[in-house]
Amino acid sequence: MDLAKFLCWVVLVVGISSVESKYMVYNTSHSIVPGKLNVHVVPHSHDDVGWLKTVDQYYVGSNNSIQVACVRNVLDSIVPALLADKNRKFIYVEQAFFQRWWNEQSETIKGIVKELIKSGQLEHINGGMCMHDEAAPHYIDMIDQTTLGHRFIVREFNVTPRIGWQIDPFGHSAVQAYLLGAEVGFDSVFFGRIDYQDRVKRKIEKSLEVIWRGSKSLGSSSQIFAGAFPKNYEPPPGGFYYEITDDSPVVQDNPDLFDYNVQERVNAFVAAALDQANITRTNHIMFTMGTDFRYQYAHTWFRQMDKLLHYVNLDGRVNALYSTPSIYTDAKHAANEAWPLKTEDYFPYADRINAYWTGYFTSRPSLKRYVRVMSGYYLAARQLEFFKGRSEKGPNTDSLADALAIAQHHDAVSGTSQQHVANDYAKRLAIGYVEAESVVATSLAHLTKVDPALNPTFQQCLLLNISYCPASEINLSSGKSLTVLAYNPLGWKRVDIVRLPVVSGDIAVHDSEGHEVESQLVPFTDEYAALRNYHVEAYLGHSPIQVPKYWLVFPVTVPPLGFTTYTISTAKKTGGHSSKSYVSRYQKGQQSIIDVGHEHLKLSFSSDQGTAINYINRRTSMTEPVKQTFSYYSAYNGTNDKEPQNSGAYVFRPNGSFPLNPEGQVPLTVVRGPLVDEVHQQINPWISQVTRVYKGKEHVEVEFIVGNIPIEDGVGKDVVTQISSSLKSNRTFYTDSSGRDYIKRIRDYRSDWKLEVNQPVAGNYYPINHGIYLQDSKKEFSVLVDRAFGGSSIVDGQVELMLHRRGLLDDSRGVAEALNETVCVQDKCTGLTIQGKYYYRVDPYGEGAKWRRTFGQEIYSPLLLAFAQQDDGKPINIGAASFSGIDSSYSLPDNVALLTLQELDDGNVLLRLAHLYEVGEDKELSGVASVELKKLFPGKKIGKVTEMSLSANQERSVMEKKRLVWKVEGEGSVGEEKKAKRGRGIDPRKLEMELYPMEIRTVLIHLERPSSHFHKYRFDA
Ligand SMILES: [Zn+2]
Repeated sequence: MDLAKFLCWVVLVVGISSVESKYMVYNTSHSIVPGKLNVHVVPHSHDDVGWLKTVDQYYVGSNNSIQVACVRNVLDSIVPALLADKNRKFIYVEQAFFQRWWNEQSETIKGIVKELIKSGQLEHINGGMCMHDEAAPHYIDMIDQTTLGHRFIVREFNVTPRIGWQIDPFGHSAVQAYLLGAEVGFDSVFFGRIDYQDRVKRKIEKSLEVIWRGSKSLGSSSQIFAGAFPKNYEPPPGGFYYEITDDSPVVQDNPDLFDYNVQERVNAFVAAALDQANITRTNHIMFTMGTDFRYQYAHTWFRQMDKLLHYVNLDGRVNALYSTPSIYTDAKHAANEAWPLKTEDYFPYADRINAYWTGYFTSRPSLKRYVRVMSGYYLAARQLEFFKGRSEKGPNTDSLADALAIAQHHDAVSGTSQQHVANDYAKRLAIGYVEAESVVATSLAHLTKVDPALNPTFQQCLLLNISYCPASEINLSSGKSLTVLAYNPLGWKRVDIVRLPVVSGDIAVHDSEGHEVESQLVPFTDEYAALRNYHVEAYLGHSPIQVPKYWLVFPVTVPPLGFTTYTISTAKKTGGHSSKSYVSRYQKGQQSIIDVGHEHLKLSFSSDQGTAINYINRRTSMTEPVKQTFSYYSAYNGTNDKEPQNSGAYVFRPNGSFPLNPEGQVPLTVVRGPLVDEVHQQINPWISQVTRVYKGKEHVEVEFIVGNIPIEDGVGKDVVTQISSSLKSNRTFYTDSSGRDYIKRIRDYRSDWKLEVNQPVAGNYYPINHGIYLQDSKKEFSVLVDRAFGGSSIVDGQVELMLHRRGLLDDSRGVAEALNETVCVQDKCTGLTIQGKYYYRVDPYGEGAKWRRTFGQEIYSPLLLAFAQQDDGKPINIGAASFSGIDSSYSLPDNVALLTLQELDDGNVLLRLAHLYEVGEDKELSGVASVELKKLFPGKKIGKVTEMSLSANQERSVMEKKRLVWKVEGEGSVGEEKKAKRGRGIDPRKLEMELYPMEIRTVLIHLERPSSHFHKYRFDA
């Protein structure tokens, strides 16, 4: 160091040490200034309810080698940070985390937090347990998980969230806008991810912010202000990240220290604000100050934002203020603008060229199915819990509710978490199920009036999907008999088919009055035996002792919200017998046409082509050539590209399509009998399927087994099936929105912008939760599914479903794992096998909706089966062999479904009914429906009935009064479009509920208890 430099250094050191750094008060008190550009600074943290770590690991901050994230830190540090300055604000979203934290707080902290919420410094927004995905969840699950969060918030804080905050999900569903938006009482919904092409156009047109009418049927009555962010949910460009480990420049405003940069930071802030103002209407813009798992030390953020607000406002070019999405929404509303109209949805989503996030519509198909099965079970279990009376201490259905809620997260059922996290979601579901199963067993014992001392409890068979049901596989030759109870969670009488593995062929089925029921024995084939043996060992750790000989198939008739019982016993003891099936095998070329079917429906197969070739419905005179094939898309490997983009868990990027034709000489096996005909096909060593046609049904059921998908060639594969028809569908097809409304899709087309096609397959994929259908001037061809899949119509007349995916590459969207699921027995692992079902049917034009809606409910809510053994010689100990939870003369109208019947922890009953049809969807069933509430609660006195918002956290009338009214461009006065009809208020004397198309009505019912005697027997119908 030379002398000059040394002196300079001395002067500096002396200078610094001689000036005392002063306490500085930053002015953060700015509110909205009319006439200025107002920058709403919104501090937030995006806390995934499981992704790279499990929900618990994220909460406590463990497993930090994967990701440094501890949500407890966020919530702990927010409290003092907000107390330090009353102008600071923060929003919190994920209730799964917040509730964990809340339960651990002292009364003092709880009191402080309540004050922070009351003053508006801390605001709950969105308010569900998680930020649910919008492609894979069923709308009933979305409602349930939101209700769980919202009711907690209103109970603890007496507030109702006003804002939807779906900032990270990978595309946005119409159901999110109108049901989980407007109908829960939100005034706006914000999100970060829309298609890159759409975003460019919206920025130019300043139409990122719109009025979104998600439902054709409900129109403006359930519209919402919706804002897509200009880029993502992170701070604006220019370096405004302030976590301890972030490297954005901090605001250095002490002139006595080095690197003073106030003007530079103010300039960067103002530049970002002006940029955003250029693409935004009104003089209000939002800066989303936060991102994933930020604010773990909240002071680092607020210290910088305090300074920015202070100096930016001194600068004066723009007005910056601490804000929330609520304040922002009110400011937008106050501007009295007319906003562009948006209809339909924001699917599919691509974040750049060749990067369509349409793979996750199918990713982890077993988790998707597990979630759907649990969802249906939860609906049924809550009904049975209500009939018995809820136990606050447990067992109850609460832990299943929690597990299902968390599983709706946008990295859970979406299939985009790491494998260990996916296992954690499944484990939670399993734990929740076990408790709910015991609730169901207890309730059934109560309702059947069995003597618990004499009878074993009702067993259930969760593993029926792998053909394993110890309860039905008992040996009846010793004179035992088996009671099968079938519970129907639907509000209509139901005729359905039960299918159980049995060990003996010498059996008969009788109903509860002793009449024989026609039944059929279908041979238990090798593909099912193999699946069963492997998976029983994988899941239970031991091989099953025996292999069932048959599937016993018999029809059951079950009253609405009720059950009937059937007895299975040896034939010689009771008379009657099960019919054996007639099995024939057809070699290739042996016989060209094989017909199967009963009554109205006939399906023809070609043994040469190895596929169905004709669907004939004699009742409707529909004859339709059909063809069903398999193929796979090889996964694109972009590792060596200049702009790499692999196919992966999120992104579907095919690199060619390859047909999977039936291999070799494996014959078609045809099983025929009085109740069901089946065609068994082995397509190749890792794909087989059974096509079934049931007596009394007019649809075709296809059960597929796909896996283990070979990857020895080093190439990932997405396996699809195509079902072709002759329909002239003219590039048009219809897919459901989150299992509810159907939306018209046109291949290579978007209604909001001129699509530049770069992925002709992946860019035409849509989420399928309920079904997909095609139509032409004469016919409708509908396919319904058993879980969420991705699907499309890539060729006119053809429906394509992606059934399974196995990949070897990561697609660079953060999960940092290839989607390569396996199942292991001891240490030996093989690629995951998927078994599933889809159903198809052809109807005359305009008549397909009835099957789609009615049978769609049956798929979602299968019969709940339970089993009890009876020993020889003893009288049947079931006191009540059948039951209906509603008036025995009543059933819900054909166009109404019961979504929720639940006893809440406060003793009130939560009832949700849904009209199942859209305006104009069916000639008759799209009409108004009326439900007699008294008939739903026979023997009980209905007290107060309060109509609630969809998430049951506020009275509907209060919500309606608060709702902001928005203007739409080109519509002049509000609601110029034809006003949607809605059911009238419920007359407390008549107690009838009207429902108009697509309406869902939620009520809290207080059931009066006239006496203790009533209480005791109140649920005996
Ligand atoms: Zn996320």
